[in-house]
Amino acid sequence: MAIREILEVPDARLKQVSVPVETFDDTLKTLVEDMFETMYDAPGIGLAAIQVGVPLRVLVIDLQPEDEDAEPEVCTAHGGHHHTHRPTKREPRLFINPEILDPSDEYIVYQEGCLSVPEIFADVERPSSIRARWQDIDGKVHEEAMDGLMAICLQHEMDHLEGVLFIDHLSRLKRQMALKKLEKLRKAA
Ligand code: ZN
Repeated sequence: MAIREILEVPDARLKQVSVPVETFDDTLKTLVEDMFETMYDAPGIGLAAIQVGVPLRVLVIDLQPEDEDAEPEVCTAHGGHHHTHRPTKREPRLFINPEILDPSDEYIVYQEGCLSVPEIFADVERPSSIRARWQDIDGKVHEEAMDGLMAICLQHEMDHLEGVLFIDHLSRLKRQMALKKLEKLRKAA
């Protein structure tokens, strides 16, 4: 397994439309393993293959929810303040050739971010529930109803397959402000 480089705006490859996976082979398995490792390392909750420069319709998601069964642990990572939080657990999900069916008429606003648009967060409105159909690593088809963060995250990641970033959902003014802010942060770094 290897951590791959995550492309960032304004890399033109992020605007590419990804093509369907047709061969479920070892190369695909390696790509998926690398994508999970890259996502956890970043860290992030979702990653599309094009974000590591591979224009295939492959997404990995792990919302890494809090582990309700685990004991809260003391954390000193944030400026020396001791506080407790529950450790998260891993729930890796893989979506190959995903499709969205029956998006709800009801919309939800959520503050999104993206590993390809670092440090920028903005409200995006999306259907609050969907049905999704996708293939697994063996090409087997699955279907599931989704809502909440999972539905939001899947729709965000599926946008990447069409070359669309979450900032493309913003008004032109807000998008320009976001990109300027990112430029400033990069210069300061
Ligand atoms: Zn993204």
